[in-house]
Amino acid sequence: MNAIEQMQQELQVLKERSNLRALPALTHEGRDVIAGGRRMLNLSSNDYLGLASDRKLREEFLQGLTADSFLPTSSSSRLLTGNFTIYEELEQTLARLFGTEAALVFNSGYHANTGILPAVSDAQTLILADKLVHASLIDGIRLSAARCIRYRHNDMKQLERLLAENHAAYRQVIVVTESIFSMDGDVADLKELVRLKQAYGNVLLYVDEAHAFGARGEQGLGYAEETGCIREIDFLVGTFGKAAASAGAYIACRSTIREYLVNRMRTFIFTTALPPVNIAWSLFIVRKLAGFQERRIHLKNISNILRNTLTEKGYTCPSESYIVPMIVGASSDTILKAEELQRHGFYALPVRPPTVPEGTSRIRFSLTADITEEEIKELIKYIP
Ligand code: PMP
Repeated sequence: MNAIEQMQQELQVLKERSNLRALPALTHEGRDVIAGGRRMLNLSSNDYLGLASDRKLREEFLQGLTADSFLPTSSSSRLLTGNFTIYEELEQTLARLFGTEAALVFNSGYHANTGILPAVSDAQTLILADKLVHASLIDGIRLSAARCIRYRHNDMKQLERLLAENHAAYRQVIVVTESIFSMDGDVADLKELVRLKQAYGNVLLYVDEAHAFGARGEQGLGYAEETGCIREIDFLVGTFGKAAASAGAYIACRSTIREYLVNRMRTFIFTTALPPVNIAWSLFIVRKLAGFQERRIHLKNISNILRNTLTEKGYTCPSESYIVPMIVGASSDTILKAEELQRHGFYALPVRPPTVPEGTSRIRFSLTADITEEEIKELIKYIP
């Protein structure tokens, strides 16, 4: 069998298991999506604060732009000529908001997670990572020279055992977790992670706030802000591509870590920096984050309503956030249920293996602050 035939065969297997994916043909109208000629409420977006669909915000931003400040490319890596002042402005603003010594901006959360861990790890490093961390973190671990052990999802007892048994044999241990998990919508016990870090001398904490930045905490700085843990997290990472309605990512950290990453992080060094206009938009949003508290409260309310309904209907729902999975089990069943919701005007998508473990296919509702309580109540009518 040649290489192409091998690919075709694998694709066929995916198809038979209802796990074949295709890019959806979509158009967007405000917060709605139009697919297959049907207009639907988007229940699958990471635009948690509803900022991406907020036309007024874009108009306000555009008013401040001129042909001189609308810079659609940086034309270079930041270490060469791509380091526009707007980058430093965003980083200083982030560092001030987080109360950290420094911050550094990356092209995406994927770049951040695949670049930081390989840069800061060596063969004397042990990485202890939650079983459910995002693919980008797993790829970062794979690219690193560290030894890695995964602990059961959110199992702090197992993590403590692993630390006790192994930490002394390594120069450093990096504990890696998300704060809000992308598929279950549940949260990490950051306070316990901080306690464990403090109990063992050589532990650093890496927390991915991709799904929390903007949407949690009184200032919108994430779950680390909400739980008062910012200071204790060594690698506090988040993305601008979700609640902040932009693209790119950041780390808030000590100055030494920032300087080290600038010198050692391949996904930072060897890539053209994001366009300055994109950084200007991120900065525009970051400056406003604290002012979106009403949106955060509304998001929490509608999430509670949906979550309570799913639990009442007998679904297991681990969520503690606006990511609300309806875990169905079989992929084929999940697809049918998602199609049914789509027929009623709700763009809910099935999430299947390998994104989630076998047998836990689900509809992943991902709520945004521009969805009304009435719309959630209407959706609930169609949940079997
Ligand atoms: N971390 C987590 C937990 C994510 O869910 C994602 C995106 N799905 C990323 C990182 C990657 O971020 P970005 O989309 O900015 O590359």
